[in-house]
Amino acid sequence: MAVTGFWDVCRKADILDIAERVVAGERIDERAALRLFDCPDTAAVGALADLISRRKNGLRASYLVNRYLNYSNICLLSCRFCAFYRRAGQPGAFLYSVEELTEQAYRSWNRGAVEVHCVGGLHPKLPFSYYRDLIAAIKERCPGMMVKAFTAVEIRHMADRIVHRSIQEVLEELAESGLDSLTGGGAEIFDAGVRDEICRGKETAEEWLEVHRTWHRMGKKSTATMLFGHVEKPAHRVDHLRRLRELQEETGGFCGFVPFAFEPANTKLSHIRRAGALDILRTIAVSRIYLDNFDHITSYWISSGLPLGQIALSFGADDLHGTIEEEKIFHMAGSNNPVSQKADDLAAAIRESGREPVARDTYYRVHPAVRPFRKAIGVGA
Ligand code: SF4
Repeated sequence: MAVTGFWDVCRKADILDIAERVVAGERIDERAALRLFDCPDTAAVGALADLISRRKNGLRASYLVNRYLNYSNICLLSCRFCAFYRRAGQPGAFLYSVEELTEQAYRSWNRGAVEVHCVGGLHPKLPFSYYRDLIAAIKERCPGMMVKAFTAVEIRHMADRIVHRSIQEVLEELAESGLDSLTGGGAEIFDAGVRDEICRGKETAEEWLEVHRTWHRMGKKSTATMLFGHVEKPAHRVDHLRRLRELQEETGGFCGFVPFAFEPANTKLSHIRRAGALDILRTIAVSRIYLDNFDHITSYWISSGLPLGQIALSFGADDLHGTIEEEKIFHMAGSNNPVSQKADDLAAAIRESGREPVARDTYYRVHPAVRPFRKAIGVGA
């Protein structure tokens, strides 16, 4: 968009004052973020977010060759937005052994995956050694593969119900076993009232933030997420972003932010209409503009579908997430999107959007180990 055209678009959308602040490198406050959410001209908000994205990452957009592993869907809780959990013994409940999971990771590593992403339910009986052994076994069998595992709620579960030790001690032992990064899951929407409606009994926002704070203080990295498009209002999304920006200011430990829309089918909130395309794009754009201390915003194609995920690369996102290989959580909630993508399809989607595709690792760094694997995983020269 020509520069004069850009200012004109912002003026017409009544966000000129915000655009001037953002372009001057100033931080916007929560009131401005709320105005961006309320702005009916999504394209104008997207153009502003795109400008910030290009400033931070140029024309580069990344993707990840990774593998999802869900060790178990057996869970003590029953979050109303979740279609994944089962009670032990219920039809559809599963629990994999460390050996089975390591074999799955190994097969993906052989095909060029650089990361395994591993989460599960809050299993009432698994010993702490299971989690440690799983990480150690994958690290040993798949040299160089990065292990991103466990949500903050799983960490609290291990600490409070399984080993009765501090969060710090649990995290230190997992790090010793080889854990490279925590996942960002479990954040949902931080507001207490919203949490009470969608996931009563789950950790509070403060507890989620404390797990990540502790991990960051150990010099470690993690990602952050936001599950939107259910009972929350735009003000709750802004409050969520505010708390993340504050923790990032304190620790600098988040390497990326992954907002994704709620998938209602097969959940106790199935009456809720799924977030529309413009809402998804606007949420990504506002996140990019407001989270000025986050380097990367991920467009999560599992939630949005690849075509919309690709469009989001022009609305502030600079990452298309991963190949994944086998996604369960969104698909048990009725997602019609594919369960995996080929690396060359992600690269082609990025290229088609006018960006330069780069394969990345867990920390969003261009991953040198990906290059020798490019032929094997089918990425063009
Ligand atoms: S979202 Fe996680 S904690 Fe909640 S019911 Fe599902 S698996 Fe359990």
